[in-house]
Amino acid sequence: MENRLLLKNGRVWDNQLQQWVKRDVRIEGGRIQQVDAELSVSPGESVAVLDLNGNILTPGFVDPHVHFRSPGLEYKETIATGSQSAAKGGYTAVVCMPNTKPALDTAELMEWIKEQGEQAGFCRVFAYGAITAAQKGQELTDFASLKSAGAVGFTDDGVGIQSGGMMREAMRRAAHLGLPIVTHSEDETLSGSGCMNESEVARRLGLSGIPGVAESSQVARDVVLAADTGAHLHICHISDRLSIEAVRFGKTIGVRVTAEVTPHHLLLTDEQITGADANFKVNPPLRSAADRKACIQGLLDGTIDMIATDHAPHSDEEKQRSFAAAPFGFVGLELAFPLLYTHFVRTGQLSIERLLDLLSAAPAAAFGLPVGELRPGGLADLTVLDLNRLKQVDPAEFLTLGKNTPFVGQELYGWPILTIMDGRVTWQETAHKEVQG
Ligand SMILES: [Zn+2]
Repeated sequence: MENRLLLKNGRVWDNQLQQWVKRDVRIEGGRIQQVDAELSVSPGESVAVLDLNGNILTPGFVDPHVHFRSPGLEYKETIATGSQSAAKGGYTAVVCMPNTKPALDTAELMEWIKEQGEQAGFCRVFAYGAITAAQKGQELTDFASLKSAGAVGFTDDGVGIQSGGMMREAMRRAAHLGLPIVTHSEDETLSGSGCMNESEVARRLGLSGIPGVAESSQVARDVVLAADTGAHLHICHISDRLSIEAVRFGKTIGVRVTAEVTPHHLLLTDEQITGADANFKVNPPLRSAADRKACIQGLLDGTIDMIATDHAPHSDEEKQRSFAAAPFGFVGLELAFPLLYTHFVRTGQLSIERLLDLLSAAPAAAFGLPVGELRPGGLADLTVLDLNRLKQVDPAEFLTLGKNTPFVGQELYGWPILTIMDGRVTWQETAHKEVQG
């Protein structure tokens, strides 16, 4: 029979025992059949056996924020290349942002994305519907029909909803349908034409600044509107310390607010910007050391619920433009785990099981996706991680079409070596290119 797999010698987190245990896992028909200390092939059984050699076996990662650029911007990324990149990064499910050309603002386009994802077959491709037609901020889309076509929430990511009245009405409608409003928080009267964080560094470099309050003032507005409407508000790529305070306040008074943070806002600050390399240009921008510290603190104390990559591929030509002229964004899927493992788990700030939760079960739960667990009967979406593998970041090895990352040359531990989605191997490390560690 097809798609039968027996995974031997995986190291699995046991939530009841609160410890790592050795487990074998039997997979059939896209589902996990059995998880046990010792499973073997019965006589006459046709099954592919993979020995995991004691490496970590964990639920596949779930990214609630990716830009796969299709339809319309396929020179940056396609559903197929984005999905392959996801699989290589250990991801088995992603949620696409609707800021494509055209924007995902109709049921037909939502259906099309879903089909493209299934055809590519490398990961589960979910999508958000746009809040406003063509993301122009003028007119609300038909939320009910977007939901029936599979939308898992609504967002105009890439731009903020400028009108509080429109946001309030969007929240009312989303709450009625039981889906989240997912916000890119940016007040354009405050962000203007800025290209990096408003700071001493920006002044020194002569670059126009985006103040933190461009984000946090809208986060505060939306937390209050969520309290008023009862909507589930999800804050994308939180980066400013006052935004985190606003989310913390919302949680304190019982607002259903969740927030995501990116690896780059946890790891980099505006001090690393020289102005010469637009691979450090992202929106929201890399902020101050105090903001970065607040992001880490928010993640550790549970104010921030999950990690998203905001995978945003661009062409080399675009990112080679001047800092002011280049588009915003970094690729993220293939580096997220090694970056976070190396800088937070190996340094003792975060436990491995907590990191894995932030990358999988937490986003799955917040968006009601049927993934993020390793249990008999569950979907066979799994990732195997070699924590001892040490490798240098080399964009030439990326499967994403985008090579735009500020992490080039970093030596990182902990790389995905095998990804299984729907019971099939979607990515497997074959070449061994470790550097000496
Ligand atoms: Zn955004």
